Amino acid sequence: DKPHHEKRLLELRLAQIGQIILVMANKGGVGKSTVSANLAAGLAARGFRVGVADADIHGPNQSRFFNQVGQRVRVSERGLDTLSCFGDRLPHPVQVGSLAFMMERDDTPIVWRDAYKHDFMHHLIGSFDWGPLDFLVVDMPPGTGNELITLSDLLEQQAVAAVIATTPQQVALMDSLKAIRFCQERGLPLLGVVENMAGVTCPHCGGEFQLFPRAHLAEALAEHRVASLASIPLSPLLAMASDSGAPVTMDQPESPEARAFAPVVDAC
Ligand code: ADP
Repeated sequence: DKPHHEKRLLELRLAQIGQIILVMANKGGVGKSTVSANLAAGLAARGFRVGVADADIHGPNQSRFFNQVGQRVRVSERGLDTLSCFGDRLPHPVQVGSLAFMMERDDTPIVWRDAYKHDFMHHLIGSFDWGPLDFLVVDMPPGTGNELITLSDLLEQQAVAAVIATTPQQVALMDSLKAIRFCQERGLPLLGVVENMAGVTCPHCGGEFQLFPRAHLAEALAEHRVASLASIPLSPLLAMASDSGAPVTMDQPESPEARAFAPVVDAC
């Protein structure tokens, strides 16, 4: 029967996946997708077999970050084909699976109630033919709602850990503390927090300044016994890289931006 078949398929897929990393943020727009893409490409550049599952149902941007906009998924007897990215530049191509590849048009809004989202999370992991992977990086939707609960239930028996993205601002930190508590209360191992958009270097004078008023991230993390993994600058290179679909950790590994991501890759 169908539910039994789907459960079995999910188990088979998961059996081939080593470590799953959930990239979370409790706030939108703080750089969760940027961290996901650069973490995945950074791991792939080190020779690991990496997949990226885009779980951000309402804004599946990984198709953009990996230069696959407009691509559509193909169905084979093994399931939905992931899109293989940068096979010519990496030891193993990054395998990307996203709802974006399943829509008829790129501008179709997703208007789903929770039951659909729940089912989609199962399909994202179970229906895509991920093949053997060392790491599956999951770009989570912002917040601690339906998708996160579904996925953390689904992955209960799996090696899974979380990374939280935030910006230096108090409003973002306030939200991040909720994500931290979610991990701690659910027993989800938290690798640490990535502070994104932390400082800007002026392209004219080379001076550094802070765009956002600084919250006391370091103190807050110490208080919660959470590691601060990395500080990523706000930079035109990173903004451009996401639009052009070439994560800097693969495309420009010697750039300060790529080097800033290295501790996140190390932590995995
Ligand atoms: P989220 O997934 O949290 O919504 P994104 O990673 O999509 O956030 O980032 C939001 C926007 O900000 C994107 O357009 C992205 O290119 C840009 N962005 C994110 N981080 C940086 C950064 N450090 N420097 C410059 N632009 C950034």
